[in-house]
Amino acid sequence: KVRVRFAPSPTGALHIGGVRTALYNYLFARQHGGEMVFRIEDTDSSRFVPGAEEYIIESFKWLGINFDEGVSFGGSFGPYRQSERRAIYKEYVDRLLADGKAYIAFDTPVELDAKRAEIKNFQYDAHTRMMMRNSLTLSKEEVDSLVADGVQYVVRFKVEPGEDIHIHDMIRGEVVIKSDILDDKVLYKSADELPTYHLANIVDDHLMEISHVIRGEEWLPSAPLHVLLYRAFGWADTMPSFAHLPLLLKPDGKGKLSKRDGDRLGFPVFPLEWHDPKTGEVSSGFRESGYFPEAVINFLALLGWNPGTEQELFTIDELVEQFDIAKCSKAGARFDYKKGIWFNHEYILRKSNEEIASLFAPIVAGNGVDETLERVTQVVAMMKDRVDFVHDLWELCSFFFIPPTEYDEKTVRKRWKDNSAVVMGELADLLGSLDDFSIENQEAKVFAWVEEKGYKLGDVMNAFRLALVGIGKGPGMFDISAFLGKDETLRRLHAAID
Ligand code: GLU
Repeated sequence: KVRVRFAPSPTGALHIGGVRTALYNYLFARQHGGEMVFRIEDTDSSRFVPGAEEYIIESFKWLGINFDEGVSFGGSFGPYRQSERRAIYKEYVDRLLADGKAYIAFDTPVELDAKRAEIKNFQYDAHTRMMMRNSLTLSKEEVDSLVADGVQYVVRFKVEPGEDIHIHDMIRGEVVIKSDILDDKVLYKSADELPTYHLANIVDDHLMEISHVIRGEEWLPSAPLHVLLYRAFGWADTMPSFAHLPLLLKPDGKGKLSKRDGDRLGFPVFPLEWHDPKTGEVSSGFRESGYFPEAVINFLALLGWNPGTEQELFTIDELVEQFDIAKCSKAGARFDYKKGIWFNHEYILRKSNEEIASLFAPIVAGNGVDETLERVTQVVAMMKDRVDFVHDLWELCSFFFIPPTEYDEKTVRKRWKDNSAVVMGELADLLGSLDDFSIENQEAKVFAWVEEKGYKLGDVMNAFRLALVGIGKGPGMFDISAFLGKDETLRRLHAAID
C-alpha cells in the first residue's frame, strides 16, 4: 500500500519548495490510491516557532491539499507530533545501543572545538572516535557513573567504514556513496531527552509504514545515513523508496531560491502571508497577493516535472492522472514567477464571470458603490481578460460605477477638438431619442449619423470615450454606454460639455 508523508519542521512559514514537495506527495498518493500523512518534526526545540504548525495547516487547507491522517487529522499511527513520541524514540535508541550499533559520547562542545582546531577537517568517525570520550574508549563503570551523575551526553551512530551504500532514487536512479565519508551522526541528546531529526524520521517512517519518501534534494546527503539506520534496525526489507526532488532556483537560475527572494522580487514565496513572531517581519503570501490556489498548484506542479507535451493548464485531477515521479528532472527548476502570474491570468479567464464577480463585488462595495451582483458580473465579463488579479479590476473598471471627476489632461489636449462640445451635444440628443439603448442599436444609429454629418468616426468616439470614462482607453464604447444606461450616459455627456 502506498503511504507517503509530508513532515515539515515548524520553524517558520512554509516555503514554496515545501509546498511543491507536499503537492508531489499528494499527487503520487492519489494516483496510487494511497494515503498521505502529515507529521510534525519538532524535535529541535531551539528552532521551534509558535504559530508555524497552524500556518502550515491553514496553507494546505487554502491550497486544497488534503491529508488522510496526521496532526489535526487523526489516524491510527499517532501521535503525529514528534515531541509527543519521546518514549518511542528512547526505546529505539536503547535498542541500537544494546546491539552495539550506536554509542554514548560525552565530548563537550569545548572538547569538540579543540579537536577541530587540532585536526584538519575533523570528523567524528571510525578514524577519530577512539581518541574521543565515549563508551568505546571509557570503561563501562566510568560510563555508568557519568550517566548516573547526570553528565550530559549524546548517542552517536556507529558508521562502519569500507562500505558502499546504494540508494535507489526514483528520480536519480542508483546513487552510491562510500560509508567512509559519513560521520557518526548524533541520534539523541540527553540534554532535552529528544532524538535528532535522523533517528526520529527513520523510526517514524518505519512505524507509520511509509512506503515512499518524496522530499527535497537537500535531504539527499542524509539518505545514505538513513539507509544504514534502516539496516541497523533490521528494517532493510521494508525500507521506503526514495525520491529527491530538484532544487528550486532563483528566477535567473543563479543559485537556490531563498526565503528572502520573494519580497525582493515583489513576488511571494510563501502560500500565505507570514508574520514572523520573532522578528516582526511580514512576508507576502500567494493568497493575500490575489493568486488562486488552483493557479499556484498548477504553477508548482510544473516546477520540476513536465508531461512531455505542450499542455500547461491542468486541473488537479489531470495532474493526478498524468504526474509521473520518474519523469521529474534532476536539474534544478527555475522559479519563473512571471509564469505564475500568467497562470493566474489563465485561471481568471477560465473561471466563470459569476465567480470572479463574487470576488470583485466586495471590492466594489468597499469603494462605496452599491451595485447588484448582476451588474458587477457584466463589468467582469467585459474586463476580466485585461487583468492578472481580481484586485486589479477596480482601477480599470471604477468608471463603470463612478463618473469621472476629472479628465485626463493629455487625452483632453489630443482628443477633445474645438467642435467636440458641439458634436457631443448632438450625440446626446441622438442617444436621448433612442428607445432601444442596446449596443447594436446605438452603434447603428450613431454610425449612420456620423456618416450623414461627414464627421470622423475616430474623433467622435474619442471624445465620447473621454466624456464617459475620463481617460483614453477601455472596452468598446457602446458596451460602456449600454452598461451605464441612457440616463447616466446623457448625464456624463452633459457634464463633459460643461
Ligand atoms: N523535517 C524535515 C523537513 O523539514 C523532513 C525531511 C524529510 O522529508 O525527510 O523538511
